Amino acid sequence: MQAAASADHLYSILVVEDDDVDREKILRLLKKSDISLKIHEESSAVNALKALQEKEFSCAIIDYHLPDALGSDLIEAINRHKKKPTPIIMISGNNDERVVANVMRDGIFDYLPKRDLEYQQLQKTLEASFAWADNEQQLNEIHTRFSQLAEGLPQLIWTCTPNGDCDFVNKRWCDFTGIKAEQQLGNQWIRQIHPDDQIEFLKSWKKSLKSGNEMLVNIRICRFDGEYRWFDTRATAQKSSDGKVIRWLGSNTDITEIELTRQALINSENRFHAAFDHAPLGMALTDISGTILQINPAFGTLLGIESINKLSTLNIDYFYQETDKVFIAQKINQLNAEKQKNIQFEINLKNNENTIIPILMSIALLNTAKFTFCYLFQIYDLSERKRYEEELKKLAHFDPLTGLGNRLKLHEEIEFLIAQSHRNSTPFAVLFGDLDHFKRINDGLGHEAGDKLLRTVSRRLKKGLRRGDSIARLGGDEFVILLKEVARYESVVAVTEKLINSIKRPIKLSGTTIHIGMSFGIALFPTDGDNAKTLLRNADSALYDAKAKERGSYQLYRKELTEYVHNRLLLDADLRNAIAKKQFELYFQPVIDFDRQAIVSAEALIRWHHPLRGLVPPGDFIPYAQETGLITAIDEWAINEACRLGAICHQQGYPINISVNISARQFQNQLLLNTLSDATNGNKFKPENLIIEITEQLFLENTEHNVKQINEIKTLGYKISLDDFGVGFSSLSYIIRFSPHYLKIDRSFIAKIGEASEHDEMVRAILGLSKIIPMQVVVEGVETSAQNLFLTNLGCHFAQGYLYSRPLKFDSFMELLSAQHQTR
Ligand code: C2E
Ligand code: MG
Ligand code: MG
Repeated sequence: MQAAASADHLYSILVVEDDDVDREKILRLLKKSDISLKIHEESSAVNALKALQEKEFSCAIIDYHLPDALGSDLIEAINRHKKKPTPIIMISGNNDERVVANVMRDGIFDYLPKRDLEYQQLQKTLEASFAWADNEQQLNEIHTRFSQLAEGLPQLIWTCTPNGDCDFVNKRWCDFTGIKAEQQLGNQWIRQIHPDDQIEFLKSWKKSLKSGNEMLVNIRICRFDGEYRWFDTRATAQKSSDGKVIRWLGSNTDITEIELTRQALINSENRFHAAFDHAPLGMALTDISGTILQINPAFGTLLGIESINKLSTLNIDYFYQETDKVFIAQKINQLNAEKQKNIQFEINLKNNENTIIPILMSIALLNTAKFTFCYLFQIYDLSERKRYEEELKKLAHFDPLTGLGNRLKLHEEIEFLIAQSHRNSTPFAVLFGDLDHFKRINDGLGHEAGDKLLRTVSRRLKKGLRRGDSIARLGGDEFVILLKEVARYESVVAVTEKLINSIKRPIKLSGTTIHIGMSFGIALFPTDGDNAKTLLRNADSALYDAKAKERGSYQLYRKELTEYVHNRLLLDADLRNAIAKKQFELYFQPVIDFDRQAIVSAEALIRWHHPLRGLVPPGDFIPYAQETGLITAIDEWAINEACRLGAICHQQGYPINISVNISARQFQNQLLLNTLSDATNGNKFKPENLIIEITEQLFLENTEHNVKQINEIKTLGYKISLDDFGVGFSSLSYIIRFSPHYLKIDRSFIAKIGEASEHDEMVRAILGLSKIIPMQVVVEGVETSAQNLFLTNLGCHFAQGYLYSRPLKFDSFMELLSAQHQTR
């Protein structure tokens, strides 16, 4: 704002005065002032208006009384026409205060009386008018700018008083709402707000009223056509210098598009969440490094974690098995490299409790925002499917009634065993069994009872087997059992007999008790077949034979084996029983001195009093006892018994030697020396009276140890006799090394004396040997006088044979001794 008119500015002044004298006076006064003025003079209102239309004036000095109009009319015209504010200075001879007040109201700048008007006063008034005009001009410009702004903005602009009455609305407001400014001004506009948003709006409004802070609220405002649109509505308080709110300046920005997009986003987010949260598939979103960002409930449930918040910064590999990590990393690399949408594979994951769960896993690479990638892991629990598959497999391989394997499984198992046997060459047995007269029971008691019977049978069969053995049901009442790694026929037969016996036990069926038998046919791999088909066929044919022979029995595919194996099994049981019950007896066969023709010793020969078979010779059980180790107990008994009876002989006055047979196997036994000394000491029988008969068998194995053992026995005083000499494999050097006291030439040589000269020569040679090595020769099995004569002539030392005596019971032997004593 200008305080005074500037000196270098030329101001144009309009002077309107009809009185020439007065006009001259004004002009004179004006010229006297030191403001540069360009004066335009007029004497009528009409002319003045014309001039005003053509030009602009910095100020108009007007006489109140003009011939063609009242000054007030001109004032109105000037104020109406002016583009720029033109200050009016009224000059009048009329000093009536009412007139002054009227013209002042009409909008003049100042009023000056004509009379006594001084140039200083005029100049001052002029200067003040210029300043006012400038100021007014600036205000106009500001106002123009403001309204341009208010109208030019895209928003709906409004201002209101603190009580909410509008005192301004822009054109857009009017256009949008369809409400004219004059209708709106002085009124509140809450009615334009959507009913649902009014409460929210009022809340914000009140809050701002209270605090004086900006109001900010999103509301819907009704358009002229009734459609509501979303607006970001703000209002800022205009405050007076003392801080009181005098007005609110508001704007409404149309955010309908943004709001709709936002709501669409929320909806889509909600939809995503609903899908994510309710999906039966386990889902996890991870960042590119595998750190889990989000999981859905199914994922948590499946892997035993409620939420990942508990395990912050948990990596998805937490659920991998160590051995799978490389595999999964390769899969992810493949996904990244080949730009595949997703990749799917089966894997085992471990849950929070380290339980392994079979999973179908799918990994997808998602582009969530520009350059922001993440992985979506989807996991599907395959446990149920695996179980189902397992079930199917079972159905294909198992008999649903008994739960045993079926034909398919059996064939697979046999082929597997064959393949395995080829590697470690272990034989196995196939037992083909069926129930005797099953059909009769099934038809008689009903199928339900029949099923129950089959289940009972399968249970009993299973119970009778070892863990590694297996059993299958081929249908009907046919069962097949595989006995693995069978070393001996006996064990196969023993198991079979056990099974037969277990089935024989009474079975309770729907109120009645029944007895049923089961028969078996047995084929052995590899001797009875080298494939499943042949083995089963042969076992089946053996079963057929078994049933033809006797129900509740068994038959080996090779029939001759059946009896043999069966007898051996019987023998085993009987022999154990015999040992326990001491069913043995020693017979004594005298040994005669050729020279003196007297009994010098006796060989103790064992006999078994079998409760059913009667007297069993040693040849029928000693070999089996040797094979199974039962011989230890038998020999121990025989040694002791021989000493006991030998001592009786001595007590009766017959100081003869007693010889006992000890099987080669005993020499492995470290306790043999103890057994011997216990027998002699215990029975007070001198070691030098006990002759230990051993066979050449001894030299077949562990020779060094045996030679040592023999020498120890000799050192203790016992005598050694090499039995059955000539049929074995003893080398001369061994005989020389342990030099036995006696050599017994085998019976077979004696029997052939006179038949073939080489036998005679053999006997002769052995006798020759006894001249080199200090030992005495006993000939066994002398049956005829011819043999006796021949041997006597050869110079044999002792003879033993039926010619002199058969083996005798101890009592009879004693009688023989006594008789001989008496003849002497
Ligand atoms: P060995 O030690 O060679 O016994 C002689 C066998 O020849 C006896 O048979 C005897 O009865 C038989 N014998 C004797 N003279 C004649 C004869 O003139 N003609 C015929 N044909 N036979 C004759 P035995 O008692 O049946 O014994 C057989 C084998 O059993 C014995 O052969 C011996 O190796 C074994 N043995 C007998 N008792 C025992 C024993 O207590 N322990 C052990 N480990 N083996 C024994
Ligand atoms: Mg003997
Ligand atoms: Mg002999």
